[in-house]
Amino acid sequence: MSFDAVAVIGGGPGGLRAAHAITEIGGKAVLIEQREFLGGTPVAENYAGLTPHGEPAGPQIQRMIDAVTAHPDADVHLSSQVTQLDGEPGAYTLTVRGPGGEQPLECGAIVLATGFTHFDPGRETQMYGYYEFPDVITLPDLESMLSQHQVLRPSNGQPPERVCFIQCVGSRDRHIGNEYCSKVCCGVASKEAIEIRQLLPESKVYIFYIDMRMYGYWENEIYWPAQEKHHVQYVKGIITEVLPKGDRLLVRGEDTTMGRPMELPMDLVVLSVGMEPSAGTKEMARVLGVAQNKYGFVEAVGGPLDTVSTSREGIYACGAALGPADLEDTVSSGAAAAMKAVGYLHRRTAASAS
Ligand SMILES: Cc1cc2nc3c(=O)[nH]c(=O)nc-3n(C[C@H](O)[C@H](O)[C@H](O)COP(=O)(O)OP(=O)(O)OC[C@H]3O[C@@H](n4cnc5c(N)ncnc54)[C@H](O)[C@@H]3O)c2cc1C
Ligand code: SF4
Repeated sequence: MSFDAVAVIGGGPGGLRAAHAITEIGGKAVLIEQREFLGGTPVAENYAGLTPHGEPAGPQIQRMIDAVTAHPDADVHLSSQVTQLDGEPGAYTLTVRGPGGEQPLECGAIVLATGFTHFDPGRETQMYGYYEFPDVITLPDLESMLSQHQVLRPSNGQPPERVCFIQCVGSRDRHIGNEYCSKVCCGVASKEAIEIRQLLPESKVYIFYIDMRMYGYWENEIYWPAQEKHHVQYVKGIITEVLPKGDRLLVRGEDTTMGRPMELPMDLVVLSVGMEPSAGTKEMARVLGVAQNKYGFVEAVGGPLDTVSTSREGIYACGAALGPADLEDTVSSGAAAAMKAVGYLHRRTAASAS
């Protein structure tokens, strides 16, 4: 026995791309999203412009949502969660809890697209005072301000004159067990730094980094223009403390190029928080019985040439559920997971017909 639908769990960019691709290649998709809206983290966190070119995030993601919701072979369940998996590969039954109570959902294959969460800087081993000082914020906090086209100090509502970004907060940190690089935060911080310089041309903007890891073409698209055109100051250094000083913040650390201590006053400090698996990713991996890596992301077991197959037959994963990913990677893996899932169902149907 085989069921013909593919269940996609998670309605962010990865799940939306997977659901749309399933319908594009003639399959049926059932999309299950726990929130009452689609679009995932970029919508929930109010992203402003997308890296690298700064296109407004809202309309871009809305196009993805429309492609799914308008398709007759895509069925969307909002405010819904999967609580149980029964059956076998090709003939799974998910128990879905939604506004109308629990209902069974039959599907032949599953795509897990439950995404990531931003690192909570309260867990950082270095003390940056996120929960103490209102003018210490995170990349997504700043995205939200930028989406309103204004950057103001939360403490006094005034535009900041001096802003700095601290890179690798919650990533590349052995003490907290997140040794991995989150891939996007160097690019996103540089993009946000450019946007601040455009909004507040009198401001001074610094980026304190261990080493800049720009992603592919982002080097030329954001990193060099940030320095050469927008005069963002990149300082190779490690920040150890953020302290209050008068109505400003004092950022203290070491300039590792010059090999000397540094102390700089700032009006706004932005923590470049990395990516961790969402609670939904960890929970769904457990419910579906698929392997997770040591960080809690879903493990892709197919090696470098199959990046979406999980440890369980007929269950695939995509996007940031698999590890740190930008949108391009996310939508690519969403399409790959869709192709794998629909191909799997076709092979089963062909085998049972012969
Ligand atoms: C600060 C920051 C800025 C960024 N800016 C950019 C950028 O400008 N350009 C770029 O390319 N990339 C950017 N990224 C990366 C981008 O956000 C991710 O690549 C993308 O959001 C990943 O999409 P996703 O669908 O895999 O996960 P998500 O966007 O996290 O979506 C996952 C979805 O699954 C749902 N879900 C979770 N658990 C369950 C469950 N149990 N049941 C049902 N649904 C569930 C969630 O509610 C959510 O809707 C940024 C990342 C960060 C950290
Ligand atoms: S992308 Fe940059 S800020 Fe983010 S973890 Fe990697 S090196 Fe650090």
